[in-house]
Amino acid sequence: MQRTKVKDLLTGAEAGKEVLLKGWVRTKRGNKYVNFIAVNDGSTINTIQVVADANNFSEEALKDVTTGAAVSITGELVASQGKGQAFEVQAKSIEVLGKADPEAYPLQKKAHSLEFLREIAHLRFRTNTFGAVFRVRNTLAFAVHRFFNEKGFVYMHTPIITASDAEGAGEMFRVTTLDPINPPKTEDGAVNYAEDFFGKATNLTVSGQLEGELAAMAFSDIYTFGPTFRAENSNTTRHLAEFWMIEPEMAFYDLKMNADLAEEFIKYIIRYALENNREDIEFLGQRLTEEDKAKPQNERQEMTLLEKLEFVVNNDFERVTYTEAIDILLNSNHYKKKKFQYEVSWGIDLQSEHERYLVEKHFKKPVIVTDYPKDIKAFYMRLNDDGKTVAAMDILAPGIGEIVGGSQREERLDILVERMKGVGIHEEDLWWYLDTRRFGGCPHAGFGLGFERMVQFVTGMGNIRDVIPFPRTPQNAEF
Ligand code: ATP
Ligand code: MG
Ligand code: MG
Ligand code: MG
Repeated sequence: MQRTKVKDLLTGAEAGKEVLLKGWVRTKRGNKYVNFIAVNDGSTINTIQVVADANNFSEEALKDVTTGAAVSITGELVASQGKGQAFEVQAKSIEVLGKADPEAYPLQKKAHSLEFLREIAHLRFRTNTFGAVFRVRNTLAFAVHRFFNEKGFVYMHTPIITASDAEGAGEMFRVTTLDPINPPKTEDGAVNYAEDFFGKATNLTVSGQLEGELAAMAFSDIYTFGPTFRAENSNTTRHLAEFWMIEPEMAFYDLKMNADLAEEFIKYIIRYALENNREDIEFLGQRLTEEDKAKPQNERQEMTLLEKLEFVVNNDFERVTYTEAIDILLNSNHYKKKKFQYEVSWGIDLQSEHERYLVEKHFKKPVIVTDYPKDIKAFYMRLNDDGKTVAAMDILAPGIGEIVGGSQREERLDILVERMKGVGIHEEDLWWYLDTRRFGGCPHAGFGLGFERMVQFVTGMGNIRDVIPFPRTPQNAEF
């Protein structure tokens, strides 16, 4: 017999028929006449109720049917008598495929804290919360490809191991085949990477952008979607050492077109998740509403998760320049009351507290901030006519802050070389990148969206460690 997934059983399409279901027991309850076993197989947030009559199943026969056990069950799918689910399975046979010792299995019925579940990341998939989060993550990933595919973008795989430090920011993981304790040295005592497998100092990629630009100079529109690594020794709720980034790069785009695309893209993938994972998002929303009840009135969310997402897909994002954003911050009561921890003045990089003030308190919607000072942005961003700012954009989301960083790229060779010098990058090191400016260069733009921050936004999860299956953070790499 073919197995039917729980999601499909619950539609009732096979009502009146004998079905085979497999999954993990969530709960078992009952009395001396009948037992009710709730089974989930990950296909949906819901469980299917299996009814095991005491006439057919002795206590002994059901003794290993405990929370967490893997089971294979056959029976008839019938309309349910009780309230709740519309359909249930009248069991004919129940086989325990894998026991879960109730004394040892950590996921008993009671609710567990997210912190505790992070310690057992290998089991947390089986909870309702993480089931919902990772189904939404899956849907969003699929929507990313769907969006770009519909627009005719080419999906490019950029290298994971690379000698280039795209940002010039340094937060890199080294990759080497050299003996770390006793590496070969050059005459002047430096590590001799020429003897390495790659013959050069290499690192894990911090961004696929530079390589993406090369491809855009041939395919017009490309995107990458892959793992990205940053040795951030910071313990924030929005940074991981390993995360996934989506980086579209488009030839013949300026900053405005870039921002328009990013906004359309974000709305598209959220809408797709709302259409395809509504139950999961509703469940996650209820979770937040429950959490809110324990908080003082002024700290509670103004909108439920669903309302927030509906609002975001149906309203324009706010657009301001960096200079306007700084003015808003300086004129805010928050500033006057000295409530910002970090200083505010023209030239600073916006801190997460500033970003969140702009979105959550001032505009109350996502904000696209453009035209940042050139000194706080990467060398490849296009210099504006004022000579002080670059055609950069960050998109800020409520609850998180920056979710997108992007820009129009500097296509003018002389200015680009000048800016590289300014940050100490040698022309020889990026000769291949500069070639795109030498041979048929053109105005182009692109952005990077941190996928986990997007998943955080859609699921409402407060900590980025709870939206990636196996978070990599300082001291966290065992499994
Ligand atoms: P932040 O200011 O939050 O450190 P950033 O400006 O360093 O971010 P970018 O280099 O602009 O980040 O990278 C593009 C996008 O990648 C960011 O907008 C963010 O969504 C995501 N991102 C950056 N660093 C991380 C990280 N350590 N963990 C998860 N996502 C990240
Ligand atoms: Mg950073
Ligand atoms: Mg930033
Ligand atoms: Mg950024």
